[in-house]
Amino acid sequence: MGGEEFYIVGGGPAGAGAAVAASRAGFRPVVYEAHEKLAAKPCGRGIPVVGDLDFIDIPREAILNKIKSAVMYVNGEFLFELRNVFEGYIVDKGMMLEAIITSSGGEVRYRSRFDVNRGVVRKPGEGYIKISKGIFAGGHMYYSGERIGAIQWILESRRYSDSDTLEIYFDTELLGYYYVFPHGEGEVEVGVGGFEDFGRLRARLERFLRSREDLRDARRLRIEGARIAVGGLDLGYAGGLVKAGEAAGFVLPLTGEGIRPSMISGYIAARAIAENRDPLKALSESWVARAVAIQRRILEYAKSLSPGERAWLLKSLTPRAHAEIALGRMNYRVLAVELARSRGVAHLAARLLKYLSSLGRA
Ligand SMILES: Cc1cc2nc3c(=O)[nH]c(=O)nc-3n(C[C@H](O)[C@H](O)[C@H](O)COP(=O)(O)OP(=O)(O)OC[C@H]3O[C@@H](n4cnc5c(N)ncnc54)[C@H](O)[C@@H]3O)c2cc1C
Repeated sequence: MGGEEFYIVGGGPAGAGAAVAASRAGFRPVVYEAHEKLAAKPCGRGIPVVGDLDFIDIPREAILNKIKSAVMYVNGEFLFELRNVFEGYIVDKGMMLEAIITSSGGEVRYRSRFDVNRGVVRKPGEGYIKISKGIFAGGHMYYSGERIGAIQWILESRRYSDSDTLEIYFDTELLGYYYVFPHGEGEVEVGVGGFEDFGRLRARLERFLRSREDLRDARRLRIEGARIAVGGLDLGYAGGLVKAGEAAGFVLPLTGEGIRPSMISGYIAARAIAENRDPLKALSESWVARAVAIQRRILEYAKSLSPGERAWLLKSLTPRAHAEIALGRMNYRVLAVELARSRGVAHLAARLLKYLSSLGRA
């Protein structure tokens, strides 16, 4: 495939989204990836399918499991089940990213680390190449805002072979949550993310597993962890390239969901560059930037509450309000109706609605 080269650093979701946009604008995406494979960083690999990723074809063979339901608990107490309200996928992230990049006519140059101080990329055997225009999508290490830890066990458990249900357990002492993601074919991922150091998160995860009769004896395959950027947007440049994805804070701060927001931000930034528009303006005006900003506000509010108040807040919101906020859709009208229905959250509802209306309508 011909076309002028379009440079992207990082072959994660943001880099893949950027490759799609560059290719659609007639460029040939070249992705410089520090690792020897894609998706080396730990990740839950869950993607809600809510219509805003329609610019991407998620390849069927990369879908490990289709999720149809989510069950929520607060401090061990069942809250609700959302069934057939949204769909989601658990994906083989490496396979998905590679397919997206290659089907956009892009090329991944592995073991090619970009030096952000000098704006050069080192390709083994070829020396240094200067890159002055493109997308930087190097992930959370380059993010300067607040980050939390997340740690997860991948377990083998036949009991979860046919499950299409995500489980979310809020622990209001922690300000974070546990998750159980069934991967299909007998693998299940059990993790915890929140405002604590890795040692404590690990101890919590072990306690959580011991408390689960169905998981206690599951075969443990591996444990992994990484940080997640939850501090809101950090727009700007790295080594002269426009930051996108988690490096720029495109993670929903309340849920830690980063694949979808990162992909979308990569797409928006690359498209703006390809069309000679201001990429920072395009990013800051996007709906996904607004979703990140609103979730960050809600997170700040949640931080200011005691564990008991947090439990009360979580239990008061309607299931639809939970979904609307968690998925980052933040439709003003839907939220206004749902928050009015929620029991006893008038204070939050008033603050949130005031903020939403100051940002303009969804
Ligand atoms: C335990 C855990 C579970 C998670 N679960 C989920 C989930 O279920 N769903 C979800 O949506 N999100 C989840 N996330 C968040 C999600 O993984 C990230 O937000 C998302 O992958 C960010 O995409 P990105 O492309 O910006 O960065 P990354 O996915 O981090 O990709 C960055 C890429 O850039 C490469 N790179 C870095 N520096 C350089 C350099 N200097 N030169 C060249 N290449 C470089 C890296 O090797 C990497 O391949 C989870 C995170 C953690 C830690």
